[in-house]
Amino acid sequence: MSKQKKPAKIGVYVCHCGTNISHTVDVEKVREWASKSLDGEGVVIARDYKFMCSSPGQELIENDIKELGLDRVVVAACSPHLHELTFRNASKRAGLNPYLTELASIREQVSWVHTDKEAATEKAKAVVTGAVERVIENEPLEELKVSIHPDTLVVGGGIAGIQAALEIANAGKKVWLVEREASIGGHMAQFDKTFPTLDCAACILTPRMFEAGNHPNIELMTWSEVTNVAGYVGNFSVTIKKKPRYLKEELCTGCRICVEKCPKKIVDQGYEAGIGYRKAIYTSSAQAVPKYPVIDTENCNFFQKGACKICEKSCPTNAIDYEQKEAFLTVEVGNIILATGYDLFDARKVSNYGYGRLPNVFTSIEFERMCNAAGPTSGDIVLRDGKTTPKTVGIIHCVGSRDRNYNNYCSNICCMQSLKFAHLVKERTGATVYDFYIDMRTPMKAYDEFYQRVLEEGTLFVRGKVAQVTDAARKASEEGKLMVQVEDTLIGKQRRIPVDMVILSIGMEPRHDAKETGKLFGIGCSANGWFTEKHTKLDPISTMTEGIFIAGTATGPKDIPTSVAQGSAAAARVLNMIMRGEVTLEPIKASVYQGQCSGCRICNSLCPFNAITFLEDRKVSEINPALCQGCGTCVAACPAGAISGTGFSNDQILAQIDGLLMDVTLADA
Ligand code: SF4
Ligand code: SF4
Repeated sequence: MSKQKKPAKIGVYVCHCGTNISHTVDVEKVREWASKSLDGEGVVIARDYKFMCSSPGQELIENDIKELGLDRVVVAACSPHLHELTFRNASKRAGLNPYLTELASIREQVSWVHTDKEAATEKAKAVVTGAVERVIENEPLEELKVSIHPDTLVVGGGIAGIQAALEIANAGKKVWLVEREASIGGHMAQFDKTFPTLDCAACILTPRMFEAGNHPNIELMTWSEVTNVAGYVGNFSVTIKKKPRYLKEELCTGCRICVEKCPKKIVDQGYEAGIGYRKAIYTSSAQAVPKYPVIDTENCNFFQKGACKICEKSCPTNAIDYEQKEAFLTVEVGNIILATGYDLFDARKVSNYGYGRLPNVFTSIEFERMCNAAGPTSGDIVLRDGKTTPKTVGIIHCVGSRDRNYNNYCSNICCMQSLKFAHLVKERTGATVYDFYIDMRTPMKAYDEFYQRVLEEGTLFVRGKVAQVTDAARKASEEGKLMVQVEDTLIGKQRRIPVDMVILSIGMEPRHDAKETGKLFGIGCSANGWFTEKHTKLDPISTMTEGIFIAGTATGPKDIPTSVAQGSAAAARVLNMIMRGEVTLEPIKASVYQGQCSGCRICNSLCPFNAITFLEDRKVSEINPALCQGCGTCVAACPAGAISGTGFSNDQILAQIDGLLMDVTLADA
């Protein structure tokens, strides 16, 4: 039992969580146990209630604090992650220091993971006892306040990042918008039409790009990358690397004469997705923002062979500068929004679909560029020879998605993207279109209506996962065709369908460097590699690191409207912080007792929030309380026992273990 300093007056509140808890745990027995067996520990009242987090549930606690003079509260309910704040706030409203309230997780740790009601009830009693023992050791804590720098960093210039930047800038606040590519616009800038309305992507995106590029409150830094992030919420110091474009932006007028004159033409694997060309000095498109070209040194004659300089000679403003070096800039910001987007699945991995081997198998992004009036074929839908219009086209959904060999998640946009392609092929070529799908997913506004429209247009839908695309003919009628081998699950038959062109609807993947980016900004990634939200439902644009927000496809596959909504939501959160001027930080922090620190530095690299620095002069470690998120990793890891945490001291943890080990069957005997 704990070494109690003064008699506590503890209230215990056991929640049924509807039937979430009470289905597996005998809630009344747990309440009875707390009331009868823990009175010696200071429990003066124990209650149970259907929904403790509801307004009447919280009022029960508040009234008891006021009327019974409770000085400690234990709520046995769901996980602290979900409702710790709810119950701390209830205590606070009743005048009790919120850190004298503990949550005992009897849902996630008990009812959801057990089926034997008797055993689960015993375990719930133990968990409650542990929380009671621990709360006795809790100390009242005071929250920390830090001021918020009014500038914001937005990383990623796709549609979500642009939206976030414009919202903040339009509210009169300064934004640093950093994009690693030479132009903003992201993947959306490559698209032709957007589903379900079929409005042209450029018509809705380029005005936003222009606005972001010319807004007085937006400092646009393209061809730039964040290399270091220091500081904490309200006070980040961010280092940005500006890669050399090899021209002086202040002199360049964006006339693109250099691009026209450059003799070096190469396949554009970026913006044109490998089906078009660009020069060695280039802009992604004529609508690029900013308008300045960049020299691709790996393909430039001058950088590779020391001769050429045609762009320099042709530039009317002498803007070309082959000597330009990368530059570093450090900016101070209060908040950061990550809208770093996604990568596309590499279709070559599904070798049975023949991409990269069979010329007339295309990816969805290649097809987007082909459909685009400003693209390599001027919008003509043609085979790889550049001139033949296909008479039959097969579109395959879920390539690299919903497949345990690659990614088991749904990429969210592929069904609608495939339907859009089916419509465009029909409209522009009159070809017969086969659409191979596993399940049709069209849940958003006007999506299913679009599906109905494509059905009515005569696209032939085949339900089944395509096994193979091959050019191996079995009979004369198959010669020169791509054969799509599929089990049609609606009729229960294997089919071989001949087509001229195959379009693979490839899925979305996390950015290849998402893990490193996450580490740089102190946020986590899910098992699939997407950035992790603070709470997927209730706080999807926050992260576990205060002041760092996420928007758009950085957290998982999303369509354009959702990405835009998330950009606005992240901006709203940032503006809220800026308007308040200061932010309150949890006082649950670790600290190093430096007299005991051996200087081994083990904790330095373990902290997931980069909160620990080593003081070279004194050879000891120090924790920045504003950065520390109180996860306890360093406390557990320090071999010298030099780190302890407010809110998770040794006394608290040991008392909780004592409680957990108490014989909870005694009272029933
Ligand atoms: S020619 Fe000179 S001014 Fe014109 S786009 Fe090229 S670098 Fe800029
Ligand atoms: S508790 Fe330690 S490891 Fe965890 S955030 Fe704080 S300093 Fe980092």
